[in-house]
Amino acid sequence: MSAWVVLTRPEGAAAAVRAAAAGGAVTVLAVGPRELADAVASAGADEVLWLEPQPGFAIESCAPQVADLVAADSPQLVVGGVEPQVRALLGAVAARLGAAVLSEVSTVRADGMSFVLERAGLGGAVVQGVRTVGPVVALLAADEDEPVDGTAVGVRAAEAGATAPVRVVRTQAAATADGLGTALTVVSVGRGLRSRDDLAMVEQLAAALDAQIGCSMPVADDLGWVPKDHYVGRSGQQIGPRLYLALGISGAPQHLEGIRRAKVVVAVNSDPAAPIFRRADYGVVGDLYEVVPALLDALGH
Ligand SMILES: Cc1cc2nc3c(=O)[nH]c(=O)nc-3n(C[C@H](O)[C@H](O)[C@H](O)COP(=O)(O)OP(=O)(O)OC[C@H]3O[C@@H](n4cnc5c(N)ncnc54)[C@H](O)[C@@H]3O)c2cc1C
Repeated sequence: MSAWVVLTRPEGAAAAVRAAAAGGAVTVLAVGPRELADAVASAGADEVLWLEPQPGFAIESCAPQVADLVAADSPQLVVGGVEPQVRALLGAVAARLGAAVLSEVSTVRADGMSFVLERAGLGGAVVQGVRTVGPVVALLAADEDEPVDGTAVGVRAAEAGATAPVRVVRTQAAATADGLGTALTVVSVGRGLRSRDDLAMVEQLAAALDAQIGCSMPVADDLGWVPKDHYVGRSGQQIGPRLYLALGISGAPQHLEGIRRAKVVVAVNSDPAAPIFRRADYGVVGDLYEVVPALLDALGH
């Protein structure tokens, strides 16, 4: 039995290899520059294969080649992370293998001839256990950071093969909401806020800290209290401020993906079990309606 991991960035490589190990000997297929393959050589895989897109071509142009390489080994399990490009490549792999595709996967376990996977359902409100027989493509819920400290294996370059004609014709910096993407400090608010009017105190705190306003997806998408281009996370802005202050945000994996690059995360949440505290460097278990005014007071506002 064999398993493959397809990746386009080093983050989460060790966790992906660990998940794939349920399927047997693991081959990592690193699609990108040589440095990527070298960076993941110690992630614990049995073999690392390196595939470099042709200069000027998008990573997705490698989809036919990736599908050929993986299918030639007929693995029962193929694992990928959250990168949209990886998901596109794995779509081609799944089609070639005739494999089931499961998203939001957190764990994979072999059970005889089948795999048992756990994955988040209903936006993270439930955990589903899924049993599958036959080849399966598991898309992990998050690129979990784990130390890459295995023994480095050799990197083998993949043979050139079929590619799709996806050429990059233009690249320019994306416009992000009011400089949210480059802000040094972001004050971000979640569903812990009870009404739109209460946003005023959050805006006051942001002004006092010379910060930009961010929010969780529902605050922008469902409630419409903050413009949509201000929400942070997998499907929103991915930001790297020096300070990220999360007010009344639970810390769903999709939200945390947006603050992977944040240096210091401070969370204020009334629930001591809120997942945001696992990511936070400093946490205040408390009511934001008490903490924000106290902060404003301390800042002389
Ligand atoms: C495919 C997909 C993509 C998604 N992409 C994103 C994304 O990009 N970004 C994103 O944010 N979400 C995204 N989500 C949604 C995500 O799963 C969560 O539902 C969302 O992040 C929760 O927002 P929240 O933390 O504001 O709300 P909740 O989860 O409801 O949390 C509110 C928090 O406020 C706390 N609280 C309540 N009252 C107070 C108070 N008075 N003082 C202090 N704390 C208080 C509560 O304890 C709770 O922890 C996505 C979901 C899916 C399925």
